Amino acid sequence: MISIVSYELEIISPRAVANTEGVGRGNVGAIYLNNFCLAIDSSMYVSTGDLFRSNVETHFKAPVKFLIITHYHADHTFGMKSFKDLVSISSAQVSKNLQSTDVLERYKGYIIELEKDDPLGKGVEFILPNFLFTESLIINDENLSVEINHVGGHTSGSSFVFFPEEKILFAGDLIFEDKFPYAGDVTCDPEKWITAMKRMRALNPDFIIPGHGPVMKGSDKLDRHEKFFIELRSIIKDAITDGLKQEEIEVPTTFDNIDPELKLLTVDHWLKYYKTQI
Ligand SMILES: [Zn+2]
Repeated sequence: MISIVSYELEIISPRAVANTEGVGRGNVGAIYLNNFCLAIDSSMYVSTGDLFRSNVETHFKAPVKFLIITHYHADHTFGMKSFKDLVSISSAQVSKNLQSTDVLERYKGYIIELEKDDPLGKGVEFILPNFLFTESLIINDENLSVEINHVGGHTSGSSFVFFPEEKILFAGDLIFEDKFPYAGDVTCDPEKWITAMKRMRALNPDFIIPGHGPVMKGSDKLDRHEKFFIELRSIIKDAITDGLKQEEIEVPTTFDNIDPELKLLTVDHWLKYYKTQI
């Protein structure tokens, strides 16, 4: 049984770190301001959440004061127990997503499964963020600030986090780097996702920490992601006009490894979404 995992931090800049190795499933990151740190997402496990928090505090020699949750998915929220004593921030919609009947039911079962079957999955608790905002929130510490923007897209509650001082963007699952994105969540809004891509691009970030996959250097790394969604939109709209079936639809070849299940969920959801629009 694996009980200890290594969860090293990748140093992005003097004030930002991340772990994008995938051990904790969803990526995590942290920003050090003047007197405290902010953690972004909790990973899927309490074991990785604990290591993440202690590694951040050791690295910056400052306490983590806030946890920011980018969206409701389990691989970003199930490690929240490690931050239970802190202020945990999300869009109000994340809290609504987590409390929907379907998610409550599913996550309850998921936690039981993890406890039994996943060596890393012990001790997960269902925890709701305790500090909610609607559109955006700025956290200030003396001369430094961090901006959280609720944009929707990947899920209805999705936010991205920007640290202007070092031009670092934590995109949550608005970006899956080097892999086909999961764009089939029941609350996924393709139009909002495309708008979010444009907003993130406009910030001209030097570094982007995606929700999955490696850290991206340079804002031009966002271009192919934006292009992918715009192309997918026109493919789906054409498919509706031409009466194509789901299995006849080819997705853009932006990403090498197209997971057939993710493709199916995505195409299915986008078809439903645009059928109501056309
Ligand atoms: Zn997600």
